[in-house]
Amino acid sequence: MKKELHIAFDDTDSLKGSCTTHLATLIVHEIFDQVDFIDFPNLIRLNPNIPHKTRGNGAVAIRIEGDNSDLEVVRDVVITTVKKMARLEDENTNPGIAFVSNAIPKEVKQFSRRAMWDVISIPEAEEFNSLANVELIKLGNGRGIIGALGAIGNPLEDDFTYEHLAYRTAKNFGTKRMIDRESIFAADKATPLTFSNVDYEYNSVMITPRGADPVFAGIRGETFVEVMKAWSLVKPLEEIAMLMVYRTNQHTNQHFIKEFPINQLKPHLSVVVHGTISKKPHYIEGSHLIFSIRDGTDEIDCAAYEPTKRFRGELSNLTIGDEVTVFGGVRPAGKNHPMTINIERLRVSSLVKQFSYENPFCEKCGARLKSAGKNKGFKCQKCSAVYREKKQIEKELPRKISIKEYLPPIIAHRHLTKPFERMNRNNKNKQIGKSDIIETLKLLINFKKSS
Ligand SMILES: [Zn+2]
Repeated sequence: MKKELHIAFDDTDSLKGSCTTHLATLIVHEIFDQVDFIDFPNLIRLNPNIPHKTRGNGAVAIRIEGDNSDLEVVRDVVITTVKKMARLEDENTNPGIAFVSNAIPKEVKQFSRRAMWDVISIPEAEEFNSLANVELIKLGNGRGIIGALGAIGNPLEDDFTYEHLAYRTAKNFGTKRMIDRESIFAADKATPLTFSNVDYEYNSVMITPRGADPVFAGIRGETFVEVMKAWSLVKPLEEIAMLMVYRTNQHTNQHFIKEFPINQLKPHLSVVVHGTISKKPHYIEGSHLIFSIRDGTDEIDCAAYEPTKRFRGELSNLTIGDEVTVFGGVRPAGKNHPMTINIERLRVSSLVKQFSYENPFCEKCGARLKSAGKNKGFKCQKCSAVYREKKQIEKELPRKISIKEYLPPIIAHRHLTKPFERMNRNNKNKQIGKSDIIETLKLLINFKKSS
């Protein structure tokens, strides 16, 4: 009798390097022959605005089935590998592992939805240990069980995407990534179902991360076939150690599911807030753009920070009275600023009309009139004619902003940001054949033998 086992872990990396997907990819390689995979490994990004996170706040879930004895072996492999590879010497690395056998309890799924936008404590996550088919393992202070549980309870039943990851060999960690830049542009053009490979606006290649991360390149797309095709067109100029394809909630806006009135905002939440512009946009030191919005409950500052580039210029055209929906992370108050929404997206729903006012012309000589004083009409300086009843000429000005959605450029996107390229896409309910999953994983794991 085969049984399902869902495995997840988080917070195995530190700011210095390493990476949770790297560890997961090692584990997938290690256990592949032992059990059947019922999905691609899942890369789940959780609330990106929480404190204590390492970069993207991503956790990994592996979903398999097998006989009891095989699953027992796999469980030991996971625990041993996490213990061996995680940077436990770093006090900011506090791994957590979660196992769920058979069906994922609905309470765990609800927890996962909350983990997309809320701040959750370790004890809250730990309560799930009492469920019969849930096992949680804490290392260090065990903060990672929050992400592990968040990942395990999100089997990507809503919109999802794929990411193809290629890893470097250990000897190259920390060095400059060697890649044929032209091949990235060619791969991008040849694969319409991949996205955000390149930011053409800022001429920036997006598939290669920076720094000590063991990832060589990540290619994101709508289907596993397409991300693999794109990778086959990219020319790495250094040794590649491993490949893996993850199914993921990246680029789905899944963290923006909860609407808040302004008086209920709290630091580190990912929020959707409707409001009316109540203070005009203005730039502050550091070239950040700030404005305020108001709803029936309160008022709050919103910021488009410098790295969002031209996004600031677009939003600077908002004015008092415009109605907007702000999607962002709540930044706690600091010494020099009140609590502020860090804007990740903004939708304009209505714009006020703006007018210019000019003095009218003299009917006798055609000269531009001068005001005769407040509420006293106008007089002509050239021919001395007086017009008590004339009004200023009102002219409607074109607004430099439209009723639509605004996003920062790709270089400033977060992992969860749904880019314009996939704005009308949604992969919910797309079925993937089990044999396709297994065949594809086999191909990825054996890539060195075939190349
Ligand atoms: Zn005149």
